[in-house]
Amino acid sequence: MRKPIQNKNEAWVRVPNRGDFELNYLIKNIEEALREKDNFSPKLYSEIYDDFSHVHCEICWGVIANRAPEVADNSGYYADHTWVCQQCYTMFVVPERYLDAVASLERIATPA
Ligand SMILES: [Zn+2]
Repeated sequence: MRKPIQNKNEAWVRVPNRGDFELNYLIKNIEEALREKDNFSPKLYSEIYDDFSHVHCEICWGVIANRAPEVADNSGYYADHTWVCQQCYTMFVVPERYLDAVASLERIATPA
């Protein structure tokens, strides 16, 4: 998993409920997650890890954790140490052409 990149020359998009992302960073994350496209299954964090730490959605970096819903998703889609949150799974993993979903995102000004 990678940390977000700041590149002022790139396009940025807004993902509903998740925040603003540099477009190429988002696409790389989606492509990384799609390696497991056929292997994901819905899991509670607690089904995979018996602790109170957390994992991040491979695509949006949202937190999936064994905690109360007000601080994090407590489930997502899991395959071989890769997690994708419910929203990203529906938005980017399920569609045949994820670039259509990406293209439909709101374009925003590059953050200062
Ligand atoms: Zn996500």
